[in-house]
Amino acid sequence: MKQRPLVFATRNKGKLVELRQLLPGVDVLSVDEAAQRLGREIPEVIEDADTFAGNAIKKAREVSQVTGLPALADDSGLEVDALGGAPGVYSARYAGEGAGDAANNAKLLAALAGVPAAERTARFRCVLALADVAGALGTETLTADGVCEGTLLDEARGTGGFGYDPLFLFPELGKTFAELGVGTKGDLSHRARAMRAIKPRLLSYLQQANGQ
Ligand code: IMP
Repeated sequence: MKQRPLVFATRNKGKLVELRQLLPGVDVLSVDEAAQRLGREIPEVIEDADTFAGNAIKKAREVSQVTGLPALADDSGLEVDALGGAPGVYSARYAGEGAGDAANNAKLLAALAGVPAAERTARFRCVLALADVAGALGTETLTADGVCEGTLLDEARGTGGFGYDPLFLFPELGKTFAELGVGTKGDLSHRARAMRAIKPRLLSYLQQANGQ
């Protein structure tokens, strides 16, 4: 039986590279590659759920529905304890729609001004969801959670990574995510942890679905 590729419901090239490294041997297509192969547009999914799982499931189901293929989606963000879990699902647009990383980090520093180090605990969270609407999964969705605990500094450190990385100190290594190499972050990040959690079920589902 011809293998059905897995579509990764992202337009983020960095995440796609990470995913391909974590799933060797699996034919993974980006949304743009899937659109090209199918010869039709794949509309942007509106992330309007109020949980990471809600958004990841919505993205996976919509992309699977449009492509007729199994689709994996992720949603992630930063939860800050002193801010009651904010910015959470709003992490990308914390300082406003299209504001960008620098504005988001500046807003976070301002919101945490005067909060002592011991109370600046936070975590990155990622939820991955697998849907295959036209396949054996049908209305079911497989999900997995990955969490990375840390604390927030009061000034940026490091030049790597993206988003809130320069403020997020990973205590075990005494470095921010922006001071870690791509390999180290790629190995211990919330995304890698969620991937390790879903991988056995994902691979066994793809094997069954492809009749292997
Ligand atoms: P999304 O999963 O691409 O929607 O990411 C949501 C937002 O969460 C990003 O725009 C970042 O602001 C933040 N975020 C998610 N993962 C990371 C990370 O690994 N480092 C820094 N920021 C992240």
